[in-house]
Amino acid sequence: MHESKKKRERSTNFAAMKDTYRHKGLRQKLIDALRQKGIRNEDVLAAMYRVPRHLFMDSGFINHSYTDKAFPIAAGQTISQPYTVAFQTELLAPEKHQKVLEIGTGSGYQTAVLLELGARVYSIERIRELYLRSRDQLIPMGYNPGLYYGDGYQGLPAFAPFDRILVTAGANELPNNLLEQLAVGGRMVIPVGDRFGQKMLLIEKTGDKETQTSEHGYFSFVPLLQGKTN
Ligand code: SAH
Repeated sequence: MHESKKKRERSTNFAAMKDTYRHKGLRQKLIDALRQKGIRNEDVLAAMYRVPRHLFMDSGFINHSYTDKAFPIAAGQTISQPYTVAFQTELLAPEKHQKVLEIGTGSGYQTAVLLELGARVYSIERIRELYLRSRDQLIPMGYNPGLYYGDGYQGLPAFAPFDRILVTAGANELPNNLLEQLAVGGRMVIPVGDRFGQKMLLIEKTGDKETQTSEHGYFSFVPLLQGKTN
């Protein structure tokens, strides 16, 4: 893309970086709806109240930002449904200052929610365009995640072990590398299934080679794919 066009697009993006009383009011309603749908963790709800979700979506979709629905972002991917973000975050239960690895940065919205909870977040995205966009979105907002362009199946061995691992795309099976990079006493939340639907699994690492798995309902994610792409 031509450099000046790139700049113009960025500044348009900045101009749209407004969070008004109207947005906050809509967000409060969304939080109330999530509470009614069964989300109990008030820290998670408060973190989601603080993150302006509309800034993570293309301006054409801003009117849809505060309905409880997934929406398309660039490169054929989606920003997860708010209920799904709340559900996965509640299950993950990150504590302040813990090291959290997220697979599938996408829009960066879930990354922001984890950062609002005080976690130290490392997030991997396999699509370069999304990696760049999420960085351009999160950094000017004052967030400070570690963002990586690569294949989440590999995890980030240089920074392991992680207290928490959150996978935000649907996997066919449990990636072994990720299990290995989970600290003993740590928790991993990952949807596992096929392209028609995935079971939400919570894996608790109880020993070096021991895990306990529990199932938490069905969801529908875009697929976790091998390798990285331009
Ligand atoms: N957490 C995101 C959800 C985005 S959808 C958000 O809040 O917006 C899932 C993302 O996972 C997509 O952007 C997709 O490109 C990415 N993804 C899929 N397989 C991956 C892999 N192996 N490594 C890293 N990212 C992957």
